[in-house]
Amino acid sequence: MKWIDLRSDTVTLPTPRMRDAMANAELGDDVYGEDPTVNRLQRMAAEQLGKEDALFVPSGTMGNLISVLAHCGRGDEVIMGDCAHTFLYEAGGISALGGVHPYLIPNNPDGTLSIQDIQNAVRKDDIHFPKSKLLILENTHNRCGGVSLSREYMLEAANAAHQSGLSVHLDGARIFNAAVDQGVSTVELTDMVDSVTFCLSKGLCAPVGSVLCGSKAFIHEALRIRKQLGGGMRQAGVLAAAGIVALEEMVDRLAEDHQRAQLLAEALSSIPGVALDKGSPNTNMVYIKLDSASSITAKACSENLKKQGVLAGITGPYHFRMVCHYWITDEDIGKVHSAFEKALNLPQ
Ligand SMILES: *Cc1c(COP(=O)(O)O)cnc(C)c1O
Repeated sequence: MKWIDLRSDTVTLPTPRMRDAMANAELGDDVYGEDPTVNRLQRMAAEQLGKEDALFVPSGTMGNLISVLAHCGRGDEVIMGDCAHTFLYEAGGISALGGVHPYLIPNNPDGTLSIQDIQNAVRKDDIHFPKSKLLILENTHNRCGGVSLSREYMLEAANAAHQSGLSVHLDGARIFNAAVDQGVSTVELTDMVDSVTFCLSKGLCAPVGSVLCGSKAFIHEALRIRKQLGGGMRQAGVLAAAGIVALEEMVDRLAEDHQRAQLLAEALSSIPGVALDKGSPNTNMVYIKLDSASSITAKACSENLKKQGVLAGITGPYHFRMVCHYWITDEDIGKVHSAFEKALNLPQ
């Protein structure tokens, strides 16, 4: 059975062009800085995000962790949203490994943080308090529905942080989805932040890897921390080669995933008892909820879907997240629609 796997865009397999590039990549020892393919990927990434330098890392989680460790010392404080990936889904790494303290403020449904909340969260110089060092923003915002944050908002939030002496890190795991959604260059969404990570291994289809971008001095520090964390990889050009294809060929086509997410959202929300959970999708994610009074649970529904070859991510007792990506076709959207009707025992 060919699975229709909507659990995440991380499930994407490398494209045939990526596999070719991986097989033929020119390699060297990247811990010595001698892998020409890694070096090329890092130059491309820095240029596309408008930063001086970049570092290839095994995962987005490690990229965010390295960034926090580079910006903050033990006992320092990071301000971020209560729905931030770094808070929810990175195993508490910043606290466990960095002794860094999170200060949470509520995310608005559109993924933003209130500027007033950011300003109020900055600590005064008082021996009772940790030192505020960093603001983390997320774009697109995953848990808020894959929403994309505008340049105007990013500028306002970054200015508020900078005026209080904080640095700004952007968790841009899906920053290219945000840029494609808004029809702006990626740099317009990153030039106001001090550091940014993005994932090659999600909608861009590369098998492994993320890139952390920032100033030359920042990346120099990040390189040492990556080594401390055991993230120094040797002939990593086999992976970077796929990342280069990702940046060259897979960015513009993200618009197709966004269109399919729209189609999926329309199809599923037309089913009685199914509603959109986070509004109409901006990018590639569709969050839905089942009517708890009349429906089976998400778990039972997902078992029924699985029997029909459809995999969906469960996000609550009656809630699902579905993510469109390169390996999901228009035809699949129709199949998912009827699989849901069947899974909910509705007449076809
Ligand atoms: C996936 C993701 C990450 C982490 O990436 P991994 O490569 O899975 O570690 C970070 N932030 C956001 C918003 C993500 O969606």
